[in-house]
Amino acid sequence: MKNRNLLVVLWILVAGILFQQPMYAQFWNDSATHKPRLLLGLPVVDVPYWGMGAQTNANRGCVNPNCPVHAGNYVVSLWENPSMLQSLMYTQSVISGVAFGVQTGVNALIPTNTALGRLGNSLLAEFAMFGFNLVGTNQPLGSGWLHEEYHRAAMATRFISSNNPFSRFGTPGGSVSGIQDQYLRDFKAQDPAGFVRMLASGVEAQQLLARSLQVENVIHDTRLPITLYSVYEQIYSALYVTSNALGSADSVVRVVNSRERTVLERDFTGPDFTGWAYHISSPKQPYDSLGTHPTGVGINRYITTERIAAPDLSYFQRVAPLMWLNLASPLTLGINTISLDFLSPGLRMNAAMRAYMTSFGTDVGGEVFVITPEVRGIVGVHNYQNRNSSFWALEAEMFDIPLPIFSAPTTWTARIIAGTQPLNQEHRTLEGQFFGALRVRGNYPISDWFSVFVQSEAKTAGWIAGNPFLGANISLVSGVQVRSPR
Ligand SMILES: [Zn+2]
Repeated sequence: MKNRNLLVVLWILVAGILFQQPMYAQFWNDSATHKPRLLLGLPVVDVPYWGMGAQTNANRGCVNPNCPVHAGNYVVSLWENPSMLQSLMYTQSVISGVAFGVQTGVNALIPTNTALGRLGNSLLAEFAMFGFNLVGTNQPLGSGWLHEEYHRAAMATRFISSNNPFSRFGTPGGSVSGIQDQYLRDFKAQDPAGFVRMLASGVEAQQLLARSLQVENVIHDTRLPITLYSVYEQIYSALYVTSNALGSADSVVRVVNSRERTVLERDFTGPDFTGWAYHISSPKQPYDSLGTHPTGVGINRYITTERIAAPDLSYFQRVAPLMWLNLASPLTLGINTISLDFLSPGLRMNAAMRAYMTSFGTDVGGEVFVITPEVRGIVGVHNYQNRNSSFWALEAEMFDIPLPIFSAPTTWTARIIAGTQPLNQEHRTLEGQFFGALRVRGNYPISDWFSVFVQSEAKTAGWIAGNPFLGANISLVSGVQVRSPR
């Protein structure tokens, strides 16, 4: 607790210093900072995941886990079983589109030619987007919907079909349900690390969404009013994990357990992170050892803190507060870039800490954004920690490098990660194994606004946020991007 207080004090000091930065001063003097830019992505094809999504879609309501797949399943699965990349881009595009509209509308209402006007303009746009988040989170394509889709995409790698409660408008709340115990039993037995990742992936989605929106503003200069929206997602994520660790969901579990009399109406896990803490600590323990549900029907899925062994709970309580580190960035204060003209003309930078719950433990790291008149990039470091050891990796990403192919004006974005992760994603091992990933994306413009993109990501066995595969994998994605010209 003391450490957290210290962090807050440090952060206030750093924030105070950052407020003096020239870029922030420029915000107050430059009405052009409010001119937003539209950036939308629609990924149509994502293979090999698409085949898994279609098979999972075919398995819905089917007793046999390998039901025949029809062409219709491929089409419907684009909405009902999207990949992690697809659901993230769908949600991000909706938020970006709405934020673009909100900022354009607010610009018409409140002129930005005075300092007071710029302040009022920013506050109105930011709070409008915050309100949109509160109303829209549990609607189709909202961040709550995205959270559940990430759980479901992890299940789909084992062809387990399920329901997203937020795939219809106006659902008051709900569960990822419709799953027989036998599928969860087989999942844990055959792929314990994948099972743990399924539990952590909902919050992973919300943290990635916040990061992706921030990257739009920093790297692509979209100037969208998404600061409060992103900060809300990060606070929600940190609160979810820490409140689970403190047992705040335990009383809810008791009430819900007394109500849910059938297996199919139950959530796949209950509180995500008490489940995470229990299963990450007991990878070899069969799912059936959870015992019989209090109603006498099915397995007792939902984990309360009393069911977690003391050393495992204390590990969970030690790592859960790390999720608050996601707020440690000037981005939390709405500072998108900091001008460092005195070092090099046109140089702007920013930095952020990033923390995720993973299949083996945690990924805590940081990233630095670098923007020059010629280059835009991110360099980062990952400290992958399991229960007993630390593993490191470095990451670098460069954006929109012009490199024509056969004289076509193609631009390229490339990301590389290289380092080590725990052997076989194990929670207690001291041994590491090489981990590497390379993602390359080419954008071919077909007009001033539209481009077609093709992206390929190749990875060794290991965990990456936003990629459903823990094993070695090569994926190919293609779609359309909309970007308004500056
Ligand atoms: Zn969840």
